[in-house]
Amino acid sequence: MIYLDYAATTPVPQAVADTMYDVLRNRYANPSAQYEAGRDMRAQVEQWRGTIAAALDCPPGRLSFTSCGTEGDVWAIRAALWRNRRAGRHIVTTAVEHNAVLETLKQLKDEGYSVDAVPPRPDGSIDADSVLSRVRPDTALVSVMLVNNELGNRYPVEEIVKRLREVNPVTLFHTDAVQGFLKVPFSARGSGADFVTVSAHKVGGAKGIGALYVSDRVRDPRPLLPGGGQEAGRRSGTEATAQIAGFAKAVELRTAHLSEALRHLSEIRAHAVETLSQIPDLRVISPLQDAAPHILCVSLVGWPSQNIVTDLSAQGICISAGSACHQGKLSHVVKALQLPERVRKSVIRLSFGAETSRADIDACAAALRRHHDERLPML
Ligand code: PLP
Repeated sequence: MIYLDYAATTPVPQAVADTMYDVLRNRYANPSAQYEAGRDMRAQVEQWRGTIAAALDCPPGRLSFTSCGTEGDVWAIRAALWRNRRAGRHIVTTAVEHNAVLETLKQLKDEGYSVDAVPPRPDGSIDADSVLSRVRPDTALVSVMLVNNELGNRYPVEEIVKRLREVNPVTLFHTDAVQGFLKVPFSARGSGADFVTVSAHKVGGAKGIGALYVSDRVRDPRPLLPGGGQEAGRRSGTEATAQIAGFAKAVELRTAHLSEALRHLSEIRAHAVETLSQIPDLRVISPLQDAAPHILCVSLVGWPSQNIVTDLSAQGICISAGSACHQGKLSHVVKALQLPERVRKSVIRLSFGAETSRADIDACAAALRRHHDERLPML
């Protein structure tokens, strides 16, 4: 199999699986238990938290574990609005956020909030001015992702936060950094953001574990999951110790060789741009600058995305038509680009990881060219 869908999820390295297995089989004590094995596990969880906090550059005490990136996004939004409940009921976001953000905002509209979603430029970029010009005295929250999961654009969150403090010092800022974490330079603390969401399975951890950083501007974020009071009362539910251990191990492995890993991804992406650009009717949609190195969105203009994905899948090549969450439907991100219909309906996403080789890209390019030459365009 040639796997080119790392933005959907990543394989778990053996060392991560071994770490998780050891916790599941041998070190299974509940970290809230009062006997020695429980206290040891509590200390371990704090050590693992420290590893992830160091990679995100934030104080460990401000990082809480969640069940996934989706939970982190929903919690951040709900906690920000609760904290600013007297400040207003207006939210600014972008039209290209992950559905974890957009569907939550849809619920909030039903609850009486008003939402301004900034459209992207045709190249997928979002500039700080277009976000800040929508901020009002009653804006409770601004939520802008760090890296777009379908296009790879890196958004100027640091500039937005810095200027937001002048435009409205009360407004809180959330960034969904699920695709940006360990892919682009980023410091949670340095960015000035109030909430930062990450997820383990995009960086070699298991599915079903994530984390949320909350700045000390929001001292006690209102729990999304109230209950037994784990995670310093912020997020109840017995800690998923094996998943947390695996998350920390994955982060440790990545950060040990981060610059080489990012260089490898950039080289692979550049090779993909060069190779795929030689295919007739293929248009690169992702930007070449200000983009994460692991995502490349292209359109084989005139050949429907779903047919391409199915054809390549039959040859053992895994790519996606937009994000994995859309299951074949045209994504809101692609729609928001306002591309001509023939371009829009032919969009596919390739995404890369440590294991991706130039030969993988060449095989994918050859399969795309065959698809182009042998199948009739249907649009
Ligand atoms: N945000 C972004 C940008 C994503 O790409 C994803 C997953 O694809 C999520 C949030 C959701 O993360 P999870 O799958 O851990 O819920």
